[in-house]
Amino acid sequence: MDMKTDLKALQHFIGGSWVDASEHATFDVLNPLDDSPYAKAARGDGGDMRKAVAAAKTAFPGYKETTPSQRERWLLRVAELMEERQKELVDCLIDEIGSPFQKAMFEFTKGLTMVRAAAGMCRNVRGETIPSDRPGTFSMSVREPVGVVGVITPFNVPLIKTTRLVANALAVGNTVVHLPSELAPHLTVIFAEIIAEAGFPDGAYNVVTGFGHEIGDDLTGHKDIDFLTFTGSTVVGQHINEICAKNKTPVTLELGGKSPTVVLADADLDKVMPLAARSIFMFAGQACIGSSRFYVERPLYDEFVKRFAMIAGKVSMGDLRDPNTVIAPIISDRQRQRVKDHIADAVAKGATVVAGGEWEGNRCQPTLLTGVSEEMILCKSETFGPVTSIYPVDSYEEALEKANDTEYGLSSAIFTKDIDKAFHFARNIGAGMCHINGPTIHDEAHVPFGGNGESGVGREGTDADLEAMTELKWITVQL
Ligand code: NAD
Repeated sequence: MDMKTDLKALQHFIGGSWVDASEHATFDVLNPLDDSPYAKAARGDGGDMRKAVAAAKTAFPGYKETTPSQRERWLLRVAELMEERQKELVDCLIDEIGSPFQKAMFEFTKGLTMVRAAAGMCRNVRGETIPSDRPGTFSMSVREPVGVVGVITPFNVPLIKTTRLVANALAVGNTVVHLPSELAPHLTVIFAEIIAEAGFPDGAYNVVTGFGHEIGDDLTGHKDIDFLTFTGSTVVGQHINEICAKNKTPVTLELGGKSPTVVLADADLDKVMPLAARSIFMFAGQACIGSSRFYVERPLYDEFVKRFAMIAGKVSMGDLRDPNTVIAPIISDRQRQRVKDHIADAVAKGATVVAGGEWEGNRCQPTLLTGVSEEMILCKSETFGPVTSIYPVDSYEEALEKANDTEYGLSSAIFTKDIDKAFHFARNIGAGMCHINGPTIHDEAHVPFGGNGESGVGREGTDADLEAMTELKWITVQL
């Protein structure tokens, strides 16, 4: 493969070659800490996207015939190369999207497990034998890769999403066209270099950088895309879902959230508080599974608010490379305005800011609100900042009812020693994921990760992706 590696001038990776955008168009990628230029990336257009899809389609017949052990070896080599380039990947997560070092390391480590877990999928693309009603017939199903998989990823966990979705698609024999977030193209470009060096055939993995609103439809609506996996905001997910429905393209959508945490009166606050803080302040709340609603039973409510405010006041907003720093910059002007609007709207309508609410540069202080009511935007909408609301409740039943009062359904958590209530909650919360005595933020490579309602369609993870990214074929032999 032609490997041209200019870290700051990012090109598309199509058919095994590094290429500029048509007309050599570019766009600036900014470091969100101070909005200084970080990189210049190729600004893809529809023609670039069509070339990438054509490359993936051309590569597919050969790639699907590769053996499990070949794909396994390439994927395990990817993991080795990631380890060799750990510093570069972590630096990129810090400087391109403003990850504090501890979040960057969390993401790097998670990304590695995603790739290694994907290697284990290669040998598991299996069908079964099926008894037949027709005498003398041998009947079986075989599982086949779908073809060309379109992958669209968000800015906030670019390495986790890239490793998981691309590696899973490649593991089961598909080729891939990837549109990374315009806010995080460099991370994906490094990953493409690693894929190339690991030995994957030309065209197996293709990356087009650019703006989703300009070229997203050229990927999503392309007739040669056989499966699409999207992670991002609910509004874009809805648009993609409509296009895929029209084309009958199967799709998984991993979208936004408004994940609740319930704290019952018998919970141990010494254990709850650090986890509560982690679940909304990690990466400054720019996590789909962050907990933006806390329902606390009345006997613990005042103490919970007091302790949470104390922690919020101490969460580090220091140098991003300091391992103790937690609070990241908010990614873009648009997102900063959204966070500011949500806080201002709540305050104007009578909410109380019990911690934070102010900004230091592009960073929003960890912010806690009480007295939040239905007419406030942040009561129901995703803020995507280090901002959460705390509500008192008089019973477990009230907590469950309020936790379910949302159109989203991604993650959820409950803290209690009462196993009956804990399991009742887990079974009755309208969310795709529930953590008992653990934070809403939790993901592993092989679990069914995903949400319901406005939070998405389908699940990710090795087993879920193996099913979603392959198709069963029924074959009979008349003996
Ligand atoms: P976003 O929707 O703005 O962008 C996501 C991706 O969609 C980007 O690659 C963007 O270029 C692309 N895009 C934009 N318009 C498009 C179009 N018309 N067609 C196709 N693609 C298009 O989201 P974001 O700001 O990058 O990420 C934050 C959102 O993602 C939050 O809502 C968060 O909850 C969600 N998220 C969900 C999960 C999950 O697993 N459920 C994980 C991470 C983030």
